[in-house]
Amino acid sequence: MTELICIGCPRGCHLHVDEENDYKVTGNSCNIGAEYGRNELINPTRTLTTTIRLSGGNHHSLPVRSAHPIPKKLLFEAMEVLNHREVKAPVKCGDVVYADILNTGIDIVATRDLD
Ligand code: SF4
Repeated sequence: MTELICIGCPRGCHLHVDEENDYKVTGNSCNIGAEYGRNELINPTRTLTTTIRLSGGNHHSLPVRSAHPIPKKLLFEAMEVLNHREVKAPVKCGDVVYADILNTGIDIVATRDLD
């Protein structure tokens, strides 16, 4: 049995996930907690937020994030890939700056406009 605190909302329900009973979740107040508890043990994911180098503009770095959460185990590898990436200004919020990071099918997108 693994204990977790749900991050789905400020209520912070204390979850119990039973690995020996098909990852059954108890302690949750809604289905978000059940899904979170199960996924956290089977395939935890996180939204990647970082910056990448920007050229041709007034700023030298561009804030970006993954369009969807990526597997937690790939976060550092994805950061390493993005450390070697440079984009040229201008960039619009939502522009894809790196497609299909690490073959996950998930794009990295700009989170602000930079001229
Ligand atoms: S289980 Fe539902 S109510 Fe409880 S913290 Fe998670 S999202 Fe909020």
